[in-house]
Amino acid sequence: MSLVFFDKPRRRRYRAPPRQIDDGDGTAMDFQLSEEQRSLAELAERLGRDEFAPRAARWDRNHEYPHANVAVLRRAGLLGMTIPQRFGGPERPLIDAVLAIERIAKYCGVTARIVVETNMGALGCVMAYGTEAQQRETARRVLEDGDKPAIGMTEPGAGTDLTALRTTATERAGGYVLNGTKHWITGGGISRTNLIFARIVGRDGTDQGIGGVLVDLGTPGFTIGRVEDAMGLRGIPEAELIFEDCAVAADSLVVRDPKDGFKKLMNGYNAQRIGASAVALGLAQGAHDLAVDYLCRREAFGQKLKDFQGLEWMMAESEIALEAARLLIYRAACNARRLANNVMLPQMKDASIAKAFTGHQAFQVVSESLQMFGAAGYSRDLPLERMLRDVRMFQIGGGTSQAQLNMIARGIFAGR
Ligand SMILES: Cc1cc2nc3c(=O)[nH]c(=O)nc-3n(C[C@H](O)[C@H](O)[C@H](O)COP(=O)(O)OP(=O)(O)OC[C@H]3O[C@@H](n4cnc5c(N)ncnc54)[C@H](O)[C@@H]3O)c2cc1C
Repeated sequence: MSLVFFDKPRRRRYRAPPRQIDDGDGTAMDFQLSEEQRSLAELAERLGRDEFAPRAARWDRNHEYPHANVAVLRRAGLLGMTIPQRFGGPERPLIDAVLAIERIAKYCGVTARIVVETNMGALGCVMAYGTEAQQRETARRVLEDGDKPAIGMTEPGAGTDLTALRTTATERAGGYVLNGTKHWITGGGISRTNLIFARIVGRDGTDQGIGGVLVDLGTPGFTIGRVEDAMGLRGIPEAELIFEDCAVAADSLVVRDPKDGFKKLMNGYNAQRIGASAVALGLAQGAHDLAVDYLCRREAFGQKLKDFQGLEWMMAESEIALEAARLLIYRAACNARRLANNVMLPQMKDASIAKAFTGHQAFQVVSESLQMFGAAGYSRDLPLERMLRDVRMFQIGGGTSQAQLNMIARGIFAGR
């Protein structure tokens, strides 16, 4: 899969696209997966179906982190796919991670989210802006220990308006001291690596802007507070992180740039939005596939449900939504450019368009799919109700749909 809408086709480590339509001026569009991508997608699909689907309800019901699935993902090479080779990773392009995430999410949204967070999110920020030592250690933890780095941005008083955050990292001899509270942090208490957004305060007390600091779980002064009783995706804790005079070494600082620190961190986070969209898409595709199967089996008024035109059209609308979302997500992933530290980072507008569209449409598709089952869809005996609760998250977490629209609008009117 390579969709190139600008520049010359970039040099890629993996495969030459098998069929490329070149319009003669160096731009090309190719909607085919390579052999390698096809087998990656098949691997993820097989693991999803055989290993993750059977226990997906358990993580949800018990509020339990799927450690067993992390081990499976690690063995299959699906953790840290995007990590550069110089840090021991396979350095696959973002689109490959997207393909795997989408397939796994059809069967278990929680497990797919772990693949997102071990390929994007905090990991992406560290790979783009961290020091060599930070990159090496974060990569090692993901690849060898299955650590899922957490990203701590949101605070009780700073959600969409992140620049209102109050957590401080104050410079002291030999390092920084953190004070503040984060909440709704995915993996809080599970993740050893925590990238915390904080206002950096210089030795002289001056505000140095928003930066990023790495804090290990277990550091004195860092405790886990309330764990949310979330509506969906309950297999990963959404937790409060509390910092009280929490001292970290100077080399824990990832970004300190009074002018552009916040912008850099948000840039690094764009890949996460694409990964999150792929989870939403996978959940919707999984629900849609179940509905297709059911409509072919269930009968009413002497015919199969699939032969009612009203239902056929609902399914057709869902199919359009799924294909459109897929194109937007794949395009955003393929349009990623090599930015800081030679890391592939997507464009903000591409990522926000994919997330805003997919978040909304995926919820509709899962809801319509559930409808096809009648009362059975409303029961916990089937995965539809769980998928509906899970998929609702993607209009909120990682920046709400409204926040995405704001960013898209900013892209439209930039420089005008
Ligand atoms: C399951 C889950 C996982 C999460 N994981 C993480 C994580 O790992 N790390 C992390 O840091 N955060 C995480 N979050 C937090 C998430 O990023 C925030 O919830 C989100 O950014 C919104 O912030 P808020 O909840 O404070 O809502 P608010 O910002 O208070 O927004 C409330 C409402 O107002 C709207 N709104 C706000 N400002 C505007 C505006 N300017 N224009 C139009 N509408 C606006 C919003 O869209 C929303 O509908 C997670 C959230 C969830 C639900």
